Amino acid sequence: MTDKNDAEKFRDLPTPFYFYDLDILNATLNTLKKESQNSGYKIHYAIKANPNPRILKIIASYGFGADCVSWNEIDASIEAGFDPSEIVFAGVGKTDKEIDAAIKANIFCFNCESIAEIEVINHLAAKLNRTVRIALRINPLIEAHTHKYITTGIEESKFGIYTWELEDVFKKMARLKNLTFSGLHFHVGSQITRMSVFRSLCTHINELQEWFSARNIDIKTINVGGGLGIDYENPEKSPMFAEYFTLIHEIIDLRPGQEIHLEPGRSVVGQCGTLISRVLYIKNGSNTQFAIIDAGMTDLIRPALYQAHHKIENLSSKGNIYRYDVVGPVCESSDTFAKFIELPETRRGNIIAIRSVGAYGEAMASRYNLRDLPRAVFSDEI
Ligand SMILES: *Cc1c(COP(=O)(O)O)cnc(C)c1O
Repeated sequence: MTDKNDAEKFRDLPTPFYFYDLDILNATLNTLKKESQNSGYKIHYAIKANPNPRILKIIASYGFGADCVSWNEIDASIEAGFDPSEIVFAGVGKTDKEIDAAIKANIFCFNCESIAEIEVINHLAAKLNRTVRIALRINPLIEAHTHKYITTGIEESKFGIYTWELEDVFKKMARLKNLTFSGLHFHVGSQITRMSVFRSLCTHINELQEWFSARNIDIKTINVGGGLGIDYENPEKSPMFAEYFTLIHEIIDLRPGQEIHLEPGRSVVGQCGTLISRVLYIKNGSNTQFAIIDAGMTDLIRPALYQAHHKIENLSSKGNIYRYDVVGPVCESSDTFAKFIELPETRRGNIIAIRSVGAYGEAMASRYNLRDLPRAVFSDEI
């Protein structure tokens, strides 16, 4: 999407804004649909990656389910057309009000993260005279080899139930009459690019299956979670759905009647989004030049929060190559998108594209410094 015509196309639009390329989004969704149909796996799109209402509507139109981590996400996904019976609800801190609303909305399943939570869900279900499906989120103690803030399946992590607690969990659950045990849930982290991490997870799942069959506990759903990474160096590259699905198919020993569920977020929406901004000033630093742009960490917090790298392009210039620190206007030194990167000679007014920002970009925007929230522009609107 980033040739010189795009600079023309964006020139008269107020910046910054998220530009969503619907051809890329639809191509990704078509691949995901094809792969999930071939394998028979159920997809629950992780809403938190990008809950833009138009994006949600498009994803829902493919017939996928949704993975939500708050009642507001459940509400937004139902509004966008996701079927409540295809919605799963995860999170370590579901409030009573959220649980109550989700029970009334008839969602598919609660992915539970502690014994305390399971007891509260049972209590609230009993008050409504209902039986609800739960899955246990298991902490598989697997290192995801990604940034520590997005690693979720290691011992010090707040997420999930340890396998050594399972005996106790099932003893307690035997008394809880308003719950139906549906299966297991996992999510070991995000932006996972090493297939070996998923291989370890699938092997761990096979071992756990033995534990359950030895106790005659029936597992219907095995939810492998999300986490499949994208190539931030190559924004044109599609996520590796085929390899990922094949690996799961080859390793997990599915028993009769069992279903695999997946919760991809980043891989679905990451490559369709670009943050478009304008250069405000060029300023000399001691070893570098600063290109100060009108987008900041309030629009895209990933570099400040996770030291994330996004490919940055100057769409307006074909000049000689120089080095720049690309920074935003917010009053924080962490408001830096990239340090000492090569760009063609950059001037005030040039259009700058920050690529691969469709996931955890607009979704995490804030109004710090009382800045405006970024707008969204879709490829069929300009
Ligand atoms: C965030 C999250 C996902 C999605 O992760 P991605 O890395 O975006 O694919 C899936 N499941 C759960 C429980 C999550 O918290």
